Amino acid sequence: MSNLSLWERESFYATQDIIIIGGGFMGLWTALSLKQKNSSLRITILEKNITPLGASTRNAGFSCFGSPTEILSDIETLGLEETLEIVRMRFEGIEKIKNTFSAKQIDLDNCGGYELINKNYKYFNQLDEKIEWLNKELKIITEKDYTFVRHDEEMAEKGLIGFDAMIENTLESGIHSGKLVSALIQKVQAAGVSILNGIEVKSWNRDLDGIHVNTQQQIRFTANQIILCTNAFSNAISPELNITPARGQVIVTSEIPGLKLKGTFHFDEGFYYFRNLDGKILIGGARNEDFEGERTNDISGSDLIKNKLIAFLQKHIDTTISYTIENHWSGIMGFTDNKKPLLTKLDDNVFAVIACNGMGVALTPMMGEKAADMLLLYF
Ligand SMILES: Cc1cc2nc3c(=O)[nH]c(=O)nc-3n(C[C@H](O)[C@H](O)[C@H](O)COP(=O)(O)OP(=O)(O)OC[C@H]3O[C@@H](n4cnc5c(N)ncnc54)[C@H](O)[C@@H]3O)c2cc1C
Repeated sequence: MSNLSLWERESFYATQDIIIIGGGFMGLWTALSLKQKNSSLRITILEKNITPLGASTRNAGFSCFGSPTEILSDIETLGLEETLEIVRMRFEGIEKIKNTFSAKQIDLDNCGGYELINKNYKYFNQLDEKIEWLNKELKIITEKDYTFVRHDEEMAEKGLIGFDAMIENTLESGIHSGKLVSALIQKVQAAGVSILNGIEVKSWNRDLDGIHVNTQQQIRFTANQIILCTNAFSNAISPELNITPARGQVIVTSEIPGLKLKGTFHFDEGFYYFRNLDGKILIGGARNEDFEGERTNDISGSDLIKNKLIAFLQKHIDTTISYTIENHWSGIMGFTDNKKPLLTKLDDNVFAVIACNGMGVALTPMMGEKAADMLLLYF
């Protein structure tokens, strides 16, 4: 847009210290950390959609730092040290959320989390030793002797059918992701960050005035530094980031009176997850039933996955009362090849922080802080 008024040019579209591209959890936590470290920074977040639309407002709302089988699997691929570092960031991220917002603001439910395991799990016969070992390794992070405790005997009273073991993690909770995003938006705006919605960034280039951000709306922004927080959609701006999109689908039932299920639950290394949400069941996942089909950033869902989730619900959760499916939605995650979150410098004063690989509720607060430190280092 070439005919901007002087007023517009000197307010909404004025040159910024930092432009953040993407207004999901990552963009918002990065903005908040930057302002907390230097309140005088001029920061604008450019968000493509009317409200953030990717993963942050479309997830399952588990405030989790990893279930036992998932952590064991990560240790096999990433090694103990790197895995513990990621678990530590998730743990501290959850603490940061709790210290930033009241439980009421984000519907925090300290309900505890559980992993369900079947006999076909490769370490089933060594489960107790594996848990004991994990508890020792995690004590330095959680400060608890027993982060994970086996409670197979409680499966029946929670109405769970067809599982062979259940491990409890009392530190896990559920949150309302929409309320957390909304509370974050209010907090960063109160700190002086400008958020412009409906602006899709297409590319960037630089000259002596700084870095120019070119947009679909033909408005050009200028900043000293920019950072991509565009997660699964990052390849459209920077293909070299090579982020793999992964769609996750969720369904929610109608209210089920007398529902015995309490807590947040994981199964099959996190490929299935479900929770009691105000007397309804929220269940998501099943991406492993159609990896190819779900490697997409098309936000519409698929009947194949929806039906897999319904079948899982009918097979594994005892509900004497019939229910209907009230909600079905999908969101898009971003994955790196090695499952590690990515903070990188793409060029002078151009950065990217992306790919929380399906656990961004807990990871984005600390990744945002790391990103802020990196930007300020080069400022
Ligand atoms: C179904 C599902 C369930 C999940 N469950 C959990 C869970 O229970 N617990 C957990 O910890 N994590 C969960 N996750 C993962 C978690 O939601 C993500 O890791 C996290 O939200 C990532 O945040 P983000 O800000 O990086 O990405 P996003 O939320 O995707 O934000 C990226 C933003 O960038 C914007 N954008 C993209 N391209 C452009 C552009 N060109 N110009 C301007 N803006 C742009 C998008 O509109 C979007 O708002 C789940 C994800 C899904 C999909």
